[in-house]
Amino acid sequence: MTESYDPENIFGKILRGEIPCHKVYEDDLTFAFMDIMPRADGHTLVIPKNPSRNTLDADPSDLAAVITTAQKISAAAMKAFDAPGILIQQFNEQAAGQVVFHLHFHVIPRHEGIKLKPHTGEMADQDILKLHAEKLRTAL
Ligand code: 5GP
Repeated sequence: MTESYDPENIFGKILRGEIPCHKVYEDDLTFAFMDIMPRADGHTLVIPKNPSRNTLDADPSDLAAVITTAQKISAAAMKAFDAPGILIQQFNEQAAGQVVFHLHFHVIPRHEGIKLKPHTGEMADQDILKLHAEKLRTAL
């Protein structure tokens, strides 16, 4: 059985402004910010503002809003990072690799021949994340 949503998860804290992030985009229903351990340059996380653990318990209207924002971020990421491809990735529950239990979609720019870095691998330099968030905001 799926556990219930815990508002103390790290993305809940980011949404409430309790911990910082490099914001890329926000609207009434969604929020997008840089992944702190990017698998590629421009790796962005898109989350709904309403609480859910993942796609298994999310309201369909939040799923629609999040994927719509992921589409917007994808277009900006292709432009900002000159990326010919975009990987959209999403994990449901621990057995599938989920680490943070607030629904999120990974939007990851891809280039031929450049391997993805490991999931939750190395922390990026904050100045680089700031620069990448600025590039994405400009391209939106
Ligand atoms: P998942 O739950 O999809 O398996 O992975 C969670 C993702 O959140 C990872 O890609 C990880 O790098 C990212 N992440 C974990 N903690 C933080 C944080 O404090 N800030 C940001 N911006 N990203 C985080």
